[in-house]
Amino acid sequence: MTDLRLDATQLERYSRHVIMDEVGPEGQQRLLEGAVLVVGAGGLGSPVIQYLAAAGVGRLGIVDDDVVERSNLQRQIVHGDDDVGRPKVDSAADYVRRLNPDVDVRAHETRVTSETIDDLVRGPHNAGDEPADGGYDVVVDASDNFATRYLCNDYCTLEGIPLSHGAIYRFEGQVTTFPNDGDGPCYRCLFPEAPEPGTVPDCATTGVLGVLPGTVGCIQATEVVKHLLGEGDLLEGRLLIYDAMGLSFETVDVRRNPDCPVCGDDPEIESIRDVGYEGTCTISAD
Ligand SMILES: [Zn+2]
Repeated sequence: MTDLRLDATQLERYSRHVIMDEVGPEGQQRLLEGAVLVVGAGGLGSPVIQYLAAAGVGRLGIVDDDVVERSNLQRQIVHGDDDVGRPKVDSAADYVRRLNPDVDVRAHETRVTSETIDDLVRGPHNAGDEPADGGYDVVVDASDNFATRYLCNDYCTLEGIPLSHGAIYRFEGQVTTFPNDGDGPCYRCLFPEAPEPGTVPDCATTGVLGVLPGTVGCIQATEVVKHLLGEGDLLEGRLLIYDAMGLSFETVDVRRNPDCPVCGDDPEIESIRDVGYEGTCTISAD
């Protein structure tokens, strides 16, 4: 049955979605009712934010505590030269508002930590008897550091919230999707703990091909759209590895590790409060 809640402007804006059987007005309505939190408004976050806004995802949260630097502009394409010095969340939110007024964009200028992540994902619930406002159905990890990556994984795995993972290094990217609707796997099934600090240099040290996060972020956006539509096959239980230099894609199976510290048979980590998200992101000594 055709959903008539799309108005004439929306039918025009989303016409190339609406005419496809796999989307249609019902699918477009699902996108408009979707709520996605993008962690990081940098190289990966830029195309994720752009395509999810263009697709009409109804509520788009952007969390980042950084300001735009000129050295970001080579790859963080949601920001422009005039935005240098502004908070990234403000610059990205302005981009979304210019692109699509259907999107309720929310700028969260903060850092994702074990103290903030629950309020960010579920919406603030510290206002006494006020019901939670906001909250998100899906989290996109578009961050650039291990602390945030492991925290997003642990929180979303424990809370059963779908998570898109993307990461880049020089000329290589990797991307996968964790629906977190049952038995895993999770990111720690692949990499139980973070490398020792200083052993994996960051983009500022090693450089990164500017278009690389564009490719990886577009795949993350594709996965989120498919997830909201309930169509297609997600990168579930599969890690896609992209080599920009050889221009090759490789997929490796990811299986739940029974010894995984989060989703294994006898998990060590039962709460994000158990973990120190500095260093190797393992259980705190105390
Ligand atoms: Zn796991």
